[in-house]
Amino acid sequence: MIIGIDIGGTKIAVAGFMLDAGLGRVRVTEAHTFPTPAREGGPAIVRAVVDAVRVVCGGGVVDAVGVGTAGVVGPDGAITSATDAISGWAGFRLQDELAHALGAPVTVINDVHAAAVAESEQGAGRGADGMLMVAVGTGIGGAVVLPDGLRRGITGTAGSVGHMEVALPPRLAERRCPCGGLGHVEAVASGPGLERTYFEESGVALPLREVHAAALRGDVRAERVILDGARYLGRALAGANAVLDVEVIVVGGGVAEVGERYLAEVGAAYRAAAMPGPSRARVVPAQRGIEATLTGAALVARIV
Ligand SMILES: [Zn+2]
Repeated sequence: MIIGIDIGGTKIAVAGFMLDAGLGRVRVTEAHTFPTPAREGGPAIVRAVVDAVRVVCGGGVVDAVGVGTAGVVGPDGAITSATDAISGWAGFRLQDELAHALGAPVTVINDVHAAAVAESEQGAGRGADGMLMVAVGTGIGGAVVLPDGLRRGITGTAGSVGHMEVALPPRLAERRCPCGGLGHVEAVASGPGLERTYFEESGVALPLREVHAAALRGDVRAERVILDGARYLGRALAGANAVLDVEVIVVGGGVAEVGERYLAEVGAAYRAAAMPGPSRARVVPAQRGIEATLTGAALVARIV
């Protein structure tokens, strides 16, 4: 059995996978999900994951383990940088620690990179000649899957569309991205970025789903905030695909699920800003939802 694991800031999911002749690795057990011991940090997470793997595999042999995790993951499977959602996560040698504790080969990659592998092999990017994925949620993550596989990058940050600079009105151009940069699309088009813009314009602090509900009720300001975010993202994707020239751009994450109008606006802004050629790339919604990271992690697990 191959184990797929999704480690997020608030919850961890673990599931068993087996080989299917048509689809590659497919999930064969229920996902076992539990809250992340985020305050205790890496060692507690390793202990909790080991317990969960025992539950999932039911005493059977674990051939390989794949992990998609929050944070930037270096080529050796260590966390090189992360938000403080998980205590001491940056610097934690997750791949080595888990392999030691489980006695099985472990492959650790970034969670959006893992989700992109699932979309590429079993979802919205299946059969495409190159795929760029963007996941719009608490931040804006991304990933590049070329015909020969996922491009992780020398430092594990390949596909970081959220840190592309886009032209912004002066009131937004000064807003600092979580990475420290200015003018980055993540600062203005992520969930928290949209909530902040709505607050700055209206004086009302609302979670994104309520901003979206207000937009549906005819609140013009709420609608403009969300659709402007979609347009900034579309332009950043146009810049990225001038370099990559991939066939499909997959848009996922919680923000992208606000509705079809959002995705249509991302696509329209993309086509308006892209070069002739890459402008023909299809901009499509992700298909694998919250299971994508779990599945992609199992797909990249290497049996040695
Ligand atoms: Zn940034």
